[in-house]
Amino acid sequence: MLNYLNSDLEILKIVQLEIDRQANNLELIASENFVSLAVLSAAGSVLTNKYAEGYPGKRYYGGCEFVDMAEELARERLKKLFNAEYVNVQPHSGSQANMAVYMSLLKPGDTILGLSLDHGGHLTHGSPVNFSGQIYRSVGYTLNKETKLLDYNIIEDLAKKEKPKLIVTGASAYSRDWDYKKFREIADKVGAFLMCDMAHPAGLIAKGLLNNPLEYCDVVTSTTHKTLRGPRGGVILIGKDKENPMGIKTPKGDRLKLMSEVFDSMVMPGIQGGPLMHIIMAKAVAFGEALQDSFADYSRQIIKNAKTLAKELMSLGYDVISGGTDNHLMLVDLTNKNISGKKAENTLGEAGITVNKNMIPFDTKSPFVTSGIRIGTPALTTRGMKEDEMKLIANFIDKALSNAENKEMLKSIRADVKALCKNFPLYPELSQN
Ligand SMILES: *Cc1c(COP(=O)(O)O)cnc(C)c1O
Repeated sequence: MLNYLNSDLEILKIVQLEIDRQANNLELIASENFVSLAVLSAAGSVLTNKYAEGYPGKRYYGGCEFVDMAEELARERLKKLFNAEYVNVQPHSGSQANMAVYMSLLKPGDTILGLSLDHGGHLTHGSPVNFSGQIYRSVGYTLNKETKLLDYNIIEDLAKKEKPKLIVTGASAYSRDWDYKKFREIADKVGAFLMCDMAHPAGLIAKGLLNNPLEYCDVVTSTTHKTLRGPRGGVILIGKDKENPMGIKTPKGDRLKLMSEVFDSMVMPGIQGGPLMHIIMAKAVAFGEALQDSFADYSRQIIKNAKTLAKELMSLGYDVISGGTDNHLMLVDLTNKNISGKKAENTLGEAGITVNKNMIPFDTKSPFVTSGIRIGTPALTTRGMKEDEMKLIANFIDKALSNAENKEMLKSIRADVKALCKNFPLYPELSQN
């Protein structure tokens, strides 16, 4: 594939540098992963040339018979993966999927109740710098101050007080599972729609390793590029046999048809134009991979690795928020180590370990500094790393953070990191060296 870039050496160089960066560093950013060569090839295919506004069988352009097959396959595979009745595979990103849902269900000024950004929520769950906090009135629920866990009493009290039209579940930095049944009860008490944004743990949910939001939520959104290990993109899903989806009082089948028409037309023409057919085909490839049994082994290993890493870090004196993890990520409060999230991110970066600084619940530092880091295991698990490597990595992290001013030490950790990476080759087929 890379050969074709010989016509543009400036770009070829950038791609090679990025391949080397990905191969020679420890990728612990919880929202990232490494796609298969099959996904990569589909994303780089000639389907990028095709305009296909509309949906399979109902396009505004001619010549769509083959891209229709790709989109149908993506839809069928995604439905099977989550036992969903309705899916839309066209959103260009997780944020676009959320926008399509909000604009389908809400009017400007309606209230959204979601997890506060500084407690692990996402920008699109009502942050004032995002459309979700500007078009809608947004209220954030916080975690319990002692346990740092979701506190369903806090959420219910807030819901009763604020009367949201939509309650949003799901997060970008929460290491525990969600009780969607409890959220359903709260939503029903206040007459709110219930949505889950499963962008982060979608792959783990698909394999039955975490609670399934499709059983209780009116609608579910996700990205496709995090634990699902597909191309960058978003999807919208509705579960099977919803008793009363969206509270619309018409016969069951019709309700679903109605809602899918609402969501489909909000994605296109509501907020998007032509779909990215190459990416939709790459989504189909990724969903096909996720349907295989080996993806369950992969997903189980992600969780085993996260639990091992959390345990090792705690044994080295690190304060892992809520004392561990149920999923693929953890938040580490660095207050007791006297280092900010920003400084930790930079220090680990020098040692070849990639993480992101992250607000911790009740953080006293600004979002640009923060008191914590977020660590996730999906990417390194894709490379084949297991518990033994997680123990090594916990020690690398500790050694780096304990010697943040010692450039020689960071350099020597970087060499150890590179040696470890060499044992778990990434995209050897793409390497030019
Ligand atoms: C990553 C993420 C998104 C947004 O995805 P983009 O594709 O970056 O727009 C939305 N919601 C949550 C909870 C996320 O973690």
